[in-house]
Amino acid sequence: MVGLVIVSHSARLAEGVVELAREMAGEEVAIEAAGGIDEPEGALGTDAARVMAAIERAGSGDGVLVLMDLGSAVMSAEMAVEMLDGGERIVLAAAPLVEGAVAAAAAARTGAGLDDVAAEARAALAAKAAHLGEEPAAPSAPAVEAAHDGPEARLPVTNALGLHARPAARFVATAGRFDADVTVANATTGAGPAAARSLMGIAALGVRQGHEVLVRASGRQAQEALDALRALADEGFGDGPAPAAAPAPAAREPAAPAAPAPAPAPAEPPAPGTRLRGLPGARGIAIGPARPLIAAAAPAPAPDETAADPEAEGRALDDALAAARDDLGRTRADVARRAGEAEAEIFDAHAALLEDAALLDPARAAIAGGRPAAAAWSAAARAAAERMAALDDPLLRERAADVRDVGDRVLAHLTGAGRAAATPEGVLVADELTPGQTAGLDPERVRGIATARGSATAHAAILARALGIPAVVGLGPALLAIPAGTPLVLDGDAGDLLVDPGDDVVAEHERRREAAGARRRRARERAREPAVTRDGVHVEVLANIGAADEVAGALELGAEGVGLLRTEFLFLDRDELPGVDEQAEVYRSMASALGDRPLVVRTLDVGADKPLRAVPHEAEANPFLGERGIRLALARPELLRTQLTAIARAAVAAGRPLSVMFPMVATLAELRAARAMLDEVRGDARLEVGIMVEVPAAALQANRLAAEVDFFSIGTNDLSQYTMAAERGNAAVAGLIDGPLPALLRLIAMTCDAARARGARVAVCGELAGDPQAAALLAGLGVQELSMAPVLVPEAKEALRSVDLSAARAVALAALELDDAAAVRASAASLLRDG
Ligand code: PEP
Ligand code: MG
Repeated sequence: MVGLVIVSHSARLAEGVVELAREMAGEEVAIEAAGGIDEPEGALGTDAARVMAAIERAGSGDGVLVLMDLGSAVMSAEMAVEMLDGGERIVLAAAPLVEGAVAAAAAARTGAGLDDVAAEARAALAAKAAHLGEEPAAPSAPAVEAAHDGPEARLPVTNALGLHARPAARFVATAGRFDADVTVANATTGAGPAAARSLMGIAALGVRQGHEVLVRASGRQAQEALDALRALADEGFGDGPAPAAAPAPAAREPAAPAAPAPAPAPAEPPAPGTRLRGLPGARGIAIGPARPLIAAAAPAPAPDETAADPEAEGRALDDALAAARDDLGRTRADVARRAGEAEAEIFDAHAALLEDAALLDPARAAIAGGRPAAAAWSAAARAAAERMAALDDPLLRERAADVRDVGDRVLAHLTGAGRAAATPEGVLVADELTPGQTAGLDPERVRGIATARGSATAHAAILARALGIPAVVGLGPALLAIPAGTPLVLDGDAGDLLVDPGDDVVAEHERRREAAGARRRRARERAREPAVTRDGVHVEVLANIGAADEVAGALELGAEGVGLLRTEFLFLDRDELPGVDEQAEVYRSMASALGDRPLVVRTLDVGADKPLRAVPHEAEANPFLGERGIRLALARPELLRTQLTAIARAAVAAGRPLSVMFPMVATLAELRAARAMLDEVRGDARLEVGIMVEVPAAALQANRLAAEVDFFSIGTNDLSQYTMAAERGNAAVAGLIDGPLPALLRLIAMTCDAARARGARVAVCGELAGDPQAAALLAGLGVQELSMAPVLVPEAKEALRSVDLSAARAVALAALELDDAAAVRASAASLLRDG
């Protein structure tokens, strides 16, 4: 017979529900209460160890149904299931506690199976709803709420994204400013509460536009915290309220146990000669035997182990967290040295996870309930990673790998196990790699990385690129069936993996790999020499910079200046905008660090897709087509005026000319309005003025715009997305904007022709500039400057040195007539000579 467990924050409530259910079930059905916590006596709360014990008592081999009140009751029940790890079948049902228990008890008594009993519980509100003439909809508010004696508020969520990613981060940051304990629950679906200092916890509440959140605070600054959160909600959590909030979607099951990230199904080993297709993760070719990743060997904690001394276990967890923080510091420093600051910041995010309440609270609760630290931490980390993996937001989903990484790192300290056995030389094959695993790889032994899951934006792929290890990600489950030692050829440019392809194919790739390696070495050696084509034309190669401290590294890699300073870094994640003085000092110090080399300062390029916390902004249905770039700047003239004043002041202070560039210009009127403002504030500053050509209208009207600028800089990232009507962050349409598209090249050719006729300079600062083949074509079309991520500078320069510009011009003009980017690439390949 199916058993029942009732989990509640209140021991008395749990007992009361058991008493009611018992009326229906008689004595035959096992119904167990798991309410409250041990200490202090009678306090409200939930305890995974208690739930686990209740499940064990209720089990008889036919399965156990668990009903919970809310919030941490759900988390404790999930942890209990984790700890039990198999044996009895257990279902956690999102059913109303009282009605569900009574209905389930009645069904269990009839001998119904576990799924039927759970279905009865879930449908248990129907009779009451029918009686009252209401839709038997999912609850609009939590059925039972834990007692609370501080202030609380119900806040409407009006912004388009709900509490996802950035809005959730703002919520955490705002709550964190006060000396108060703040919790937040989704009052519409009943999910939660989560601690307001846990980004993961908040993201897992599934708060959408139209929902209401219940925020509760206690402690010295409880009221201040609540007021600040109310103000944040009023401005749409930093995104600005949507004009008309959509109705709340049907309530979802409150924090239902997240499905584990789907493990790839085992497959037959791919036949020799098979080509597996994935996504390019990091460029380059790798050849070698398959080396499946030997995962970290931390012993799985025994499900029923208990600890004699919870205090000692608590200390062990603290020590492991401190040790993990130390290793993260070392890994960060190592990655900063090998790959750069931006990549190293991944490990700052990991360090923050060591303090995340979504990991720490359940782990500490389980330790207090008698679990050993390793088991408690392991269950908490696994549950948190699985909740992340089940989220709607793809970027947050990818962060599940980061949570696993941090989880393993701490566990390794708790159990004394090594992180991962050294991989023998070859191509590393793994389901997915964590950033920590990637950072720990030895590029001398690991020639390439092939993963079944993951994406090009995952942290592991970003690190592989920075460390120079070729990688292909998202190859699918067949990858994992490849036997160890199978010869592999991995092509990180094409995103392919060839399985045992035969000697000829291996030899051909070996040749390509060696040529590429030689080119790379030569490129590094000659990085500081100018890029002069075979026929004597100097193409300037500059860097795109997004942080003040990147200048020195860029110069080291051979950049001849900064062709795009993305000034957004000065504005994001701040409550107050930077003033003239602060901005001027940043621009001046960068100008000084560059000597007399060019510095192109792009004015603020934010908008609805990259909202500024300090500038409330209405949510838009199509943010990429909305008020971004120059449109937002002109709509908030003080913002632009402050920035232009700062740039002018920096030019005067540095005693040298600077370039100002306006983003997203689509019309002559926008350019004129921005220039007029610049003229008002420029004083004696020597400034060149240009625009980004990244909206097709600007390319199509380049002949008119060219007469009013000193230079154009073509933003191929946006120009591609607007030309192809394919959003740049959307993986489903990524193929449409990949590479040197003929339609894009036509717009670039028009822009170059117009600029030439009017004596304006043309640069390209989108991703395409750093692609060696495309760089040659762009130079062929008449582009005089290419600006790119600093790491790409040496190879782009080397590619340009190998090109004959008149040949490149002929190939580029012919490319305008070709079918697609692949055909363009095929014809451009002949331009780059290996020698
Ligand atoms: C571009 O759009 O190509 C560009 C360089 O600007 P961003 O990527 O900053 O939008
Ligand atoms: Mg752009």
